[in-house]
Formats: sequence, C-alpha cells, structure tokens
Amino acid sequence: MSYPIPPPPIDHPEYRRHHRWMSRAIALADAAGQRGDVPVGAVVVDAGNQLIGEGYNHREDSHDPTAHAEIVALRAAGQMRHSWRLTNCTIYVTLEPCPMCVGAIILSRISTVVYGADDVKTGAARTAMNLFDGPCSNRSPRVIGGILEETCRQQLQAWFAARRQDRHHP
Ligand SMILES: [Zn+2]
Repeated sequence: MSYPIPPPPIDHPEYRRHHRWMSRAIALADAAGQRGDVPVGAVVVDAGNQLIGEGYNHREDSHDPTAHAEIVALRAAGQMRHSWRLTNCTIYVTLEPCPMCVGAIILSRISTVVYGADDVKTGAARTAMNLFDGPCSNRSPRVIGGILEETCRQQLQAWFAARRQDRHHP
C-alpha cells in the first residue's frame, strides 16, 4: 500500500470537509506559535463530523516533551468519548506526524489521518519513514496528505523566520 492518498478534487464534498477542519487546526497552530511553541495544531472529528477533541503543540509552556498537538487532541477526544478507542474518527493535523504521534494514532484506532505539510526531518507517515505501514502497525488508518499544504508550510516557515530574526535582533 502506498501513502498518502492524494487529496480529493477541490469541488468534492470530502475536500470541503477536510478544508474546514484543517482550517481549524491551522487556527490552533497559530495559538501555539503565539505562545512560543512551534505552530502545530490538531483536531479529532467523529463519524458524524462532530469535533470531539483539539489541541496544539505546547511543549515549551508545559515543559512536556510529549505535548504535541496530536497527543493533546487524542487525549481530549478520549475524555469526550469516555473511551480510548477512537474507531471511525479522523484526526486533522497541520504537520505530518512524528514517530511518537504515529504510535499514539495507531493505538487510538483512529480510522483516517489528514495532514497538511510534510515534515522532512521527523515525518513518520511517509517522508522520513512510514510507520503506519510498518510491522508495528496492526491496523493502518487511511492517510491523506497535502490538505492546505501550502498554508501549513508557510505558517511554520514564517514562525521559524520570525524566531531567527528575534535571535539576531533581540
Ligand atoms: Zn508528534
């Protein structure tokens, strides 16, 4: 199996749904960036297209190496559902998940993963490695990459550029 599936056509209802939820994830990522964390946001939506969890990266302000957007959103969704099993749910995340988050997504039994920008350093859905399709994955979710990719990538690039600027001109 090859990942990820390319985005559906732009006028397709599925694309409009992905666009809507990814836009919310981007807004959450912006909140992370404003608090001094790398801007990554995530939302979890159930089979009825209802929001059941959301989060953004807050490693810096929580001093927690595991406080990635996906982990925060999965925990919130589990609390909301009163179950760790997130079968038939979709997670939207602005950046390709890292190995830790791919592991958590597999354990949560999420059915579909939709992400924005590829992560050339630690992307574990396809770019640096493909753990969803690896031997440790007993149930591979459907993975769709490239939804609002340009916006997600620019958000990250702008944040890193601003941080470099601050370092050079404090
Ligand atoms: Zn992660």
